[in-house]
Amino acid sequence: EIKHILVAIDGSEHAMKALESAKTLAKQLQGDSHLTVLHVNPALSMNEPPVGIDVEERIEEEGRHILEPAADYLKDEGISYRMLAGHGDPASIICETAQQEKADLIIMGTRGQGLVTELILGSVSHYVIQHAPCPVLTVK
Ligand code: ATP
Ligand code: MG
Ligand code: MG
Repeated sequence: EIKHILVAIDGSEHAMKALESAKTLAKQLQGDSHLTVLHVNPALSMNEPPVGIDVEERIEEEGRHILEPAADYLKDEGISYRMLAGHGDPASIICETAQQEKADLIIMGTRGQGLVTELILGSVSHYVIQHAPCPVLTVK
C-alpha cells in the first residue's frame, strides 16, 4: 500500500515533473497519503565546514530557493506534506531518508540539472533505482 511518498527535487524541470506526479498521486490517494519533499545540498557534504559558517543555516538558506516554490505548489490542495533539507551525497541521502522515514515510494526525475542531456538517466536516479529500499518512479 502506498501511503508515504518521498519526492526528491534538485530545482530542475525534471524534478518539477516528479513533484507534479506526486501531487496527482497524493490527491488520488486522498487523506491517506503523506508527501515528504527532499532537497539535498551536495555542496555542504564536507566533514569540516569553513570556520564561521553555520551549516544548518546555510542548508536552510540554500534549500529555501528550491523547497519554497515546491511548498507553494503543494499548498491549499488538501495534501499532507512536509519539506526536508539535507546535505551530503544526494543519492545516498535520498535512499537513507526513504529507509528512515519508511517511504513506500520514491518519485524523482529521470534527469536533473546535469548538462549531459544524451543520457537517459542521471547518476542520482541511476543510484537510487539500484539502492532504494522501496519502489522508485522516475518521471520524464
Ligand atoms: P548528473 O547529476 O549525473 O549530472 P542529472 O543532474 O541530469 O545528472 P540526476 O542528478 O540523477 O540527473 O537527477 C535525477 C533526479 O534526481 C532529479 O530530477 C531529482 O528528482 C533527483 N535529484 C538529483 N539531485 C538531487 C538533490 N541534490 N536533491 C534531491 N533530489 C535530487
Ligand atoms: Mg544531477
Ligand atoms: Mg550533476
